[in-house]
Amino acid sequence: MTPGSRRAVVLGGGVAGLAACFRLLQGARERGLPLEVVLLEASLRVGGAIETARAGGCLLEKGPDCFLSVKPEGVALCRELGLEGQLIGTRPECRRSFILRGGRLHPVPAGFYLLAPSSLTPFVTSPVFSPLGKLRMALDLVLPRRRGAGDESLASFVRRRLGREALDRMAQPMVAGIYAADPEELSLEATMPQFLEMERRHRSVILALRRRVAQARGAAAASGPRYALFLSLAGGMETLVEALRERLLGASLRCGARAVGLRREGGRWRVGLEGGGELEADALCAALPAHAGSKLFGEVSPRLSALLGGIPYGSVATLNLVFRRDRVAHPLDGTGFVVPAAEGRPLMACSFSSSKFAGRAPEGKVLLRAFAGGARGGEALALAEGELIRRLVEDLRPVLGLSGEPEEALLQRYGRAMPHYTVGHLGRVEEMERLAAELPGVALAGSAYRGVGIPDCAAGAAAAVARLLDQLAGLAPAAG
Ligand SMILES: Cc1cc2nc3c(=O)[nH]c(=O)nc-3n(C[C@H](O)[C@H](O)[C@H](O)COP(=O)(O)OP(=O)(O)OC[C@H]3O[C@@H](n4cnc5c(N)ncnc54)[C@H](O)[C@@H]3O)c2cc1C
Repeated sequence: MTPGSRRAVVLGGGVAGLAACFRLLQGARERGLPLEVVLLEASLRVGGAIETARAGGCLLEKGPDCFLSVKPEGVALCRELGLEGQLIGTRPECRRSFILRGGRLHPVPAGFYLLAPSSLTPFVTSPVFSPLGKLRMALDLVLPRRRGAGDESLASFVRRRLGREALDRMAQPMVAGIYAADPEELSLEATMPQFLEMERRHRSVILALRRRVAQARGAAAASGPRYALFLSLAGGMETLVEALRERLLGASLRCGARAVGLRREGGRWRVGLEGGGELEADALCAALPAHAGSKLFGEVSPRLSALLGGIPYGSVATLNLVFRRDRVAHPLDGTGFVVPAAEGRPLMACSFSSSKFAGRAPEGKVLLRAFAGGARGGEALALAEGELIRRLVEDLRPVLGLSGEPEEALLQRYGRAMPHYTVGHLGRVEEMERLAAELPGVALAGSAYRGVGIPDCAAGAAAAVARLLDQLAGLAPAAG
């Protein structure tokens, strides 16, 4: 450390931890703060859930394959990293998606937004819902607002406004595809606050969606749509990790360094490392899965540790499959499909990756990506690799008309990787943030708190670092 300099240690090298390091270096430079930045990552690589691979001439995403453009922090980060020219949207000709029902794929009605329709004709004519189910959903147009405040589950919201069928046939698989969780347990205000707001402001969700679509059309007509809803990077999502890494030359990145303990001594933090040794720090950004954070904070804040440990996590697996084009009968004219729990399969969803984004597979080949796990997939995830691959391929075979075997099959398991924001989550996050703020120079970042998407992780890291830099700026220079 240079004389007078302070040290900030970031725990966890996923996108949140990398973005935190980037913001720390940037902020310290702007404020003229002498700061050493150290990243401790338990595994041998940075990137966390984000990992791109190549096989059979295809570009495979093991983890996230895109991010939402409507949350501006993802695009903003890419722009700052010089990646704007590499952003690619979903192919315009393949933007619809499908839902599995009775073993067959049906298009999700055009204009259906996660939980409810914004456009009436495609919804009324869709075979996905029964006539009674459609009538029940239309009741949303006249039902009053919910009385009383307080969080409720996503499932309760959908049942209340749109009915049981809307939940079972559409909301449940959509939500499972994003959160790998059961909507009966998920908090509405933490996962889909836009729907809460729609009910508050417009009473009816369908009316609110119709107004939103009309407004968006007006805005697009005025300025032209800037980005597709889902964006990726031409070279794969790991391009983001690489670009962040390149900007961290001024920081020390230590892979294979698991933080196993935390204590305070002499006005500084001491981070215990697996295998022995400690690292001193003036500021700490914990960008860890909550269960890992819980273990670290046990001694310094038992309540914070308990709250972190109380965030449930789901496990998922992704299976990238490369097929010869002539071995897949389905036209793959969409982004993919989701599978309602009622279909009773380990398969949760499947992306038509080479239809969704350009440049994912060469001519004559297609790339599919199956998801397994979530609320009902525990048993499947316990299967041996070969057996899980076989089960998923057999699940896909009749649905997509697959013949023969895949040329490549890449299975990736993510154990306890998806935080589940259960009812009351945001209240508990506020308490966690308050408890963390009581610890000098400590901030929390990552997918456990205020959004699981990559833009949310980028935003959370920026907010955590802003608080840390304020505190570091208030400290006297370290004795040289
Ligand atoms: C299969 C899958 C698909 C997804 N798809 C999308 C998508 O399409 N779009 C989207 O926006 N989001 C998606 N997500 C969510 C998003 O990828 C994650 O929420 C985000 O990448 C999490 O970043 P993070 O930095 O918070 O955590 P992580 O990526 O989990 O990183 C945490 C890091 O901390 C390290 N660590 C753990 N314990 C310790 C310790 N004690 N000491 C040091 N290091 C430690 C871990 O090794 C890990 O590298 C997906 C997630 C998964 C799993």
